[in-house]
Amino acid sequence: MHSLPVLPSPTEPLDRGLRGLANVMEGEVRLGLHDRMLYATDASLYQVEPLGVVIPTSVEDAARAVRYCFENRIPMLPRGGGTSLAGQCTNRAVVIDLSVHCRSVGPVDVAARTITVEPGITIDDLNDRIGASGLFFAPDPATSRHANVGGCIGNNAAGARSILFGRTSENVVSIRAALADGEVVEFGPGTSFTSPRVRLITLAVCRIVAEYAALIEARFPKTVRRNAGYGLDMVLMQMKAGGWRIGDAVPSDAAAGVGKVDADPEWLRKVNLAHLLCGSEGTLAMTVGATLTLRPKPAFKGLAVLGFSDLDASIAAVMPILETKPSAVELLDDTVIDLARGNAEYARYVELMPTPVNGPLKAVLYVEYFGATAAEVEERNQALLMRVPGVPHQWHTNAPAMLNAWKLRKAGEPLLHGVPGDRKPITFVEDNAIPVERLSEFVRRLRAMVEAHGTRAAFYAHASVGVLHVRPLIDIHNENDRVIMREIAVATADLAKELGGVMSGEHGDGRIRGPMLERYFGPEIMAAFRKIKAVFDPHDLLNPGNIVEPGPVASITELLRVEPTPGRPIGVPVGLETYFDYSDQHGLDGAVEMCNGAGVCRKKQGGTMCPSYMALLDERHSTRGRGNALRLAITGQLTAGPDSEGRWSDPETIRTLDLCLSCKACKTECPSNVDISRLKAEYTAQRYRAKGAPFAARVMGAIRTLNRAGAMMPGMANRVNGLGPVRALIGKVLGLHPKRSVPQFSRSLKRVWPGGQNDGLGGGQPTVMLFGDCFSMFNESHIGVAAAKVLRAFGYRIVLADAGCCGRAKASMGLLPEAVGEISATIGRLEAAIAKENPVAVLFLEPSCLSAVKDDWRQLKMPVSAERRAEIAKKSWLVEQFLEARWESHPTRAQFETERLKGKVLLHGHCHQKALWGVESSSLLLARVVGPLLRTLDTGCCGMAGSFGYTMERFDLSMKIGELALLPAARAMAAGDVLVAPGTSCRHQVHDGAGVRAIHPVEFLASLLPAGATIER
Ligand SMILES: Cc1cc2nc3c(=O)[nH]c(=O)nc-3n(C[C@H](O)[C@H](O)[C@H](O)COP(=O)(O)OP(=O)(O)OC[C@H]3O[C@@H](n4cnc5c(N)ncnc54)[C@H](O)[C@@H]3O)c2cc1C
Ligand code: SF4
Ligand code: SF4
Repeated sequence: MHSLPVLPSPTEPLDRGLRGLANVMEGEVRLGLHDRMLYATDASLYQVEPLGVVIPTSVEDAARAVRYCFENRIPMLPRGGGTSLAGQCTNRAVVIDLSVHCRSVGPVDVAARTITVEPGITIDDLNDRIGASGLFFAPDPATSRHANVGGCIGNNAAGARSILFGRTSENVVSIRAALADGEVVEFGPGTSFTSPRVRLITLAVCRIVAEYAALIEARFPKTVRRNAGYGLDMVLMQMKAGGWRIGDAVPSDAAAGVGKVDADPEWLRKVNLAHLLCGSEGTLAMTVGATLTLRPKPAFKGLAVLGFSDLDASIAAVMPILETKPSAVELLDDTVIDLARGNAEYARYVELMPTPVNGPLKAVLYVEYFGATAAEVEERNQALLMRVPGVPHQWHTNAPAMLNAWKLRKAGEPLLHGVPGDRKPITFVEDNAIPVERLSEFVRRLRAMVEAHGTRAAFYAHASVGVLHVRPLIDIHNENDRVIMREIAVATADLAKELGGVMSGEHGDGRIRGPMLERYFGPEIMAAFRKIKAVFDPHDLLNPGNIVEPGPVASITELLRVEPTPGRPIGVPVGLETYFDYSDQHGLDGAVEMCNGAGVCRKKQGGTMCPSYMALLDERHSTRGRGNALRLAITGQLTAGPDSEGRWSDPETIRTLDLCLSCKACKTECPSNVDISRLKAEYTAQRYRAKGAPFAARVMGAIRTLNRAGAMMPGMANRVNGLGPVRALIGKVLGLHPKRSVPQFSRSLKRVWPGGQNDGLGGGQPTVMLFGDCFSMFNESHIGVAAAKVLRAFGYRIVLADAGCCGRAKASMGLLPEAVGEISATIGRLEAAIAKENPVAVLFLEPSCLSAVKDDWRQLKMPVSAERRAEIAKKSWLVEQFLEARWESHPTRAQFETERLKGKVLLHGHCHQKALWGVESSSLLLARVVGPLLRTLDTGCCGMAGSFGYTMERFDLSMKIGELALLPAARAMAAGDVLVAPGTSCRHQVHDGAGVRAIHPVEFLASLLPAGATIER
């Protein structure tokens, strides 16, 4: 068998075998280095180059892949969301990604409360689809939005509410599995009586369990959560429940007589190996379908939040709290609370917590109750108050308040990434399950042990089931810290065992805890695990090495992402001159390591991140895929030798980055704030430094010059552009898709600016300055006029700043030196205009221009000082954001004739706006004006994203992204409804994709002004 750290090199016959895989598969087989490396990591610390990647089109196709791999003796690794924390989803094997196409869901069997699904469906997708049935699938790992049912089975996942609903194994009725040789069988109640193959396997497993029964009883942990090794204790329990007793014989295959059901003992009926597959980490069989137990949704919920000035006191309170039958008890420690206090977004959630009277807040317990009636939930809260008297307490029963209170707990993990310094709270002893009555002692001794190693740890817990997530601070780049890491790993496992717990409570063993399995269970149980493996996978092809042949303790710090190949140095080229400043992320080295692989960017609903993943469901086109590609390319892992130029021009990395819309959603929605748009621009600019920029990029980057020229004689320019041959020529030169309309030119805003050029429109009023962006200056000058109208109605004197371009177009094309030059010039002109006019604010119509000023300008290295850039950023607002923020202090209050509205007002926010200031930057003002008529659409990205959606290669994807939500919403508008979108790209997309005219918020507001309020003179 393979032991984990030993990596068999691909041999010539293996290579040939891999190439043949494509002949038997309907789905894609990816064998290129880049494609494989995007599957080399999961959410753990490890990186292992897979042999290949297979994306089956169906579960039958997946089973074909297994059969082929079996015949050619190629190792395999089934994969779902790839969110494993222990490294069990990294291996030298062919990765079979079931998350793309194997996602179908059967009908709900309401009477039986079950459902049959394919393995690639995520928990949240499943629960969304069956929501109307009033039932749900209960295991709720924190990753439920992107973790797959197959992966939950693989890891026997559980969540905050496992005290009520158990682990995945307690919620699985049966599993359809492709065995190592590709035969598909069903493990379920009584299937050993119907399938000869299942019976053979079941009897073999039972014989092993019978042989080791006494040791299994003695050595397996008794905690609610346990996920170490194979769940032999579950099989033993099933056998005993059927009447088998230790010492009873288990029939041999011959005695049972294959096919002779009558000869089988009755207790065999109770043995359901579906439960053994739970937690087997892809080593026994590949799940291709599962029948799951569903639970009724709780009718009423209540959430108590308790504040403590001492962590030990909070843990001591857990036992009495459990007597009140909560559905969850969750713990946060002071490391997370202190980080939240220092974080702009989360500080307010700390303020919401109950404050202890005898000192600062050091720990929070969340106690959740489910009930059939409101009174039942209330009663539980009263019982809680009696059990923990005197502890500051808050009680919430309405959904928004509960959601708000949970925010701090949910922020725990992401906030930990923000710990300053080289030592980070990393995942390696994060999965201990301890009997709750010994949790206090565990925490006390663990803390002392970690401190004795010269570091400290953050704690948070599913306290109800004794699962304590501990994150010691370790600098994984430092060899001394790696020694400490190994010592802490061993000592923690030993301590967990001494106290009756286990080091793998819910996240599994993988590479990180596998080395401790033998210390924990002893050599005999390890031998039993190996026998089990041999029954299912005699040739050791499924996730080889994992669980049964783990490496030695030293292997815990081998094959780390930061040093995957001993002896081959990796890293950002020394002395590299970057275009952006990465000091906020410990330099470019830190920036490329920001992605922790947790896969939040693989969510399919809610928010904007990541539009291309939502449309394509391809790992390569997720934020994680791009983050990995950039890390691998920039640190030299995709190019041979030390050539530092080659790393900037890796064709596959360029292709991976090509479908990033630079929407900036990852900058805020990714818990680690991975900023792909910045890294993509840097990568592209570094390439152009060596190779020069292509013509089309230069033309697209010169948008202001082109628009200015078109706006000189807009009528003629539009007519010429509309001529078939001209349009075709433009399309050919710039690579535009023929179905994409080209923007129309208007007379320049300067020429139509009401009241003449930069004319003050009144005397004595405060001045606001409108930034003349490239679109409202030359393509949509009526929007600039509308803005003037609205601002005037609020009593402002307005001036137009034709200061130049914000640099957005050039920056997003990767033309960074050119962007810096352009921005510097614009800043100079803008400062001069500001000095002359002394405006109270500089106002923007286009969110992507404001995002350039507030984000890109500040991150780019440029000759203009940071203070000067900050000064402009401070003054800069979206028009509607400014009007709302100053609502109480405008010189006058505009009147809007909302009675003229004939329908709803639908708002689609721009991605940059949503990422940086929230859609509230437009919606608050609109809601103030139109009240309940406003509907803010949950539309994610429009798919256009500047020049992204224009090109031949990206048009289809652009439309696909639009079709996810925005375009259907536009088509579904009723007569009289108005679609409002601040982004020029979004309006363009709605026009091209749905034939609907969307308008800018200021156009909409201007349309409601009384006729007399116009400023045309
Ligand atoms: C931030 C964070 C929070 C987490 N919180 C929790 C938590 O609260 N509770 C919890 O239990 N876990 C948690 N996890 C761990 C992990 O997310 C869960 O175990 C999750 O269920 C894994 O699902 P996945 O689809 O990502 O599985 P993957 O990582 O893709 O796979 C998991 C294992 O199952 C195997 N596998 C996948 N699909 C199949 C298949 N079809 N057939 C056979 N084997 C298969 C894989 O080979 C692998 O060994 C967390 C992880 C992160 C990063
Ligand atoms: S990009 Fe962000 S959200 Fe996606 S896996 Fe990496 S850290 Fe998680
Ligand atoms: S910038 Fe947008 S498209 Fe690009 S990786 Fe981030 S979320 Fe995805």
